[in-house]
Amino acid sequence: MAAAGVDALLLSLGADLPWLTGYEAMPLERLTMLVLPAAGDPVLVVPLLEEPRVPPSTRDLVEVRAWSEEEDPVGLVLASLPPGSQVLGVSDRTWAVALLALQERRPGARWTPASAVTAPVRAVKDAAEIAALEAAAAAADRVADDLQSGAIPLAGRTERQVAGDVGRRLVEEGHQRVNFAIVASGPNAASPHHEPTERVIAPGDTVVCDFGGALVPGGGAAYCSDITRTLAVGEPPDDVRACYDVLAAAQAAGRGAARAGVAAWQVDDAARRVIEAAGFGRHFVHRTGHGIGVEEHEPPYLVAGNEEVLVPGNAFSVEPGIYLPGRFGMRLEDIVVIGPGGESRSLNRADRSLVVVDP
Ligand code: ZN
Ligand code: ZN
Ligand code: ZN
Repeated sequence: MAAAGVDALLLSLGADLPWLTGYEAMPLERLTMLVLPAAGDPVLVVPLLEEPRVPPSTRDLVEVRAWSEEEDPVGLVLASLPPGSQVLGVSDRTWAVALLALQERRPGARWTPASAVTAPVRAVKDAAEIAALEAAAAAADRVADDLQSGAIPLAGRTERQVAGDVGRRLVEEGHQRVNFAIVASGPNAASPHHEPTERVIAPGDTVVCDFGGALVPGGGAAYCSDITRTLAVGEPPDDVRACYDVLAAAQAAGRGAARAGVAAWQVDDAARRVIEAAGFGRHFVHRTGHGIGVEEHEPPYLVAGNEEVLVPGNAFSVEPGIYLPGRFGMRLEDIVVIGPGGESRSLNRADRSLVVVDP
């Protein structure tokens, strides 16, 4: 906070609060806000009816100030700031109405995103955080195994049915919540974030399955998993196989380029070059990856132009894709971490090939 010139952080909705304190605010219109001054004691302002949800471990860290329905939470937040606080960092996902109310009553203050302070710290995971991501990745791998082995059948079922199975299995394998389960079959897979539909998966389809959840390994905040595997229902045609070979080579190149000292854009570039060289460049329509931790998307972003240099403790996805409108799509995604020696390793170990399941 001192380096960023911030006098206090005001953390409401979003991942900063649970990451720091183990307490997650409900997305209510009632205000929850941690006042965390650069110097002085932190105060968590919570609605009275939410107070029972604040765990003892959070109470050990911060003073809890519960407000009843007739009290003024914005006034309580402002009163909890040390005198002279001028530059205030507000968590990125704070409701706009809360921020507008704060701004109206503190006209002289300067406002900045809390992520200016928290994002660089959150991007470098400690050993316990890496262990949590590893547990989440292993749980997601077991669900990927189920898809690849046929334990979750594809052929003759709707995308929605398969997505339901994937979500259920994520929870059975230890996730506390499912963040998303994309099942995109045949031409639907040309849309990277396709929502599962009633389309029945048929022989000859390729199916993109991209899913993840959040897992609490031993108290505290939940850490995310995120994996994509593409499957073929019956033997795929030669052009699909050839395209997948390009994709797998691009993903391997991205993972191979990831190490400490390399700029984030270079990982994107390593994967993208392989796809461009094969003539599919304009069909790779998104960045190569995103950081992951208590949020499924957070810095560092592996995207052209991002000069951020990777360091030990970074954790991020490497997930190139190729999308041919009206025909098919494919993506391959692993979560990779940079180890203490600067080398990268994949937390996901599920088979990366184009696994063919029974038609
Ligand atoms: Zn995505
Ligand atoms: Zn994903
Ligand atoms: Zn991802």
